[in-house]
Amino acid sequence: MKSGIKKVLAIGAHPDDVEFSMGGTVKMLTESGCEVMILDITDGEPTPHGSPEIRKSESQKAAKILNVQRKTLEFDNRFLMDEIHIRKSIAGEIRLFKPDVIFAHYPMDAHPDHLAASSLSMAARFYGKLSYIDLPGERYFTPRIFYFFSVHLRISPQPDFCLDISPAIETKIQALLCYESQFHELSRKLSAETNEQKEDMVRSFITTQNRYWGNRIGTAFAEPFFSPEIIGFANLKGLIL
Ligand SMILES: [Zn+2]
Repeated sequence: MKSGIKKVLAIGAHPDDVEFSMGGTVKMLTESGCEVMILDITDGEPTPHGSPEIRKSESQKAAKILNVQRKTLEFDNRFLMDEIHIRKSIAGEIRLFKPDVIFAHYPMDAHPDHLAASSLSMAARFYGKLSYIDLPGERYFTPRIFYFFSVHLRISPQPDFCLDISPAIETKIQALLCYESQFHELSRKLSAETNEQKEDMVRSFITTQNRYWGNRIGTAFAEPFFSPEIIGFANLKGLIL
């Protein structure tokens, strides 16, 4: 029996997906001494107010705040598909990093990139253990894969577990505030014009969502996760009563 998480790989379709859905969890993990790498499959561009340079500098800033390594692959934003060469590229990263847990996109979403990223991550986890394949490193199978919740669908499915992120909510907000180029649409909808109004908008957006999940488990803030497999515990020390 193996337990204790030392390395985590969080795979997002776009820079900001991981921060948005599990930024608090990432902070909680790094605070507890865990090594976390965020792997973006695309650079997230083009977007109406971003550019590859702007997005890169925003995502590097966010990574610094969360104290994680970040790698951004160069596959096509908006047109991401579950293709063999992309599976292999991600599997190569998995074999080199050897995470204990992979976090991937929830497999139901309106955004086709998120759907592709979800199935790419699952396939890459499996490809990691294949022999006779042109991948770097040694054969490696990541013991666990969980889904984070970053969907463009108006749904609230029942999570398999929620992590209390109350001590990390402020860091999560600060990491998301780095992605200024991505706020324009929401700013327009909510008529947020000044920097202060924009910060309030992001803060309220994040706290509302994470307060909802926190309320489900009796904490101030939480992030929801889903597991395609049965989860095993060595003990129940961390269980919130
Ligand atoms: Zn995304």
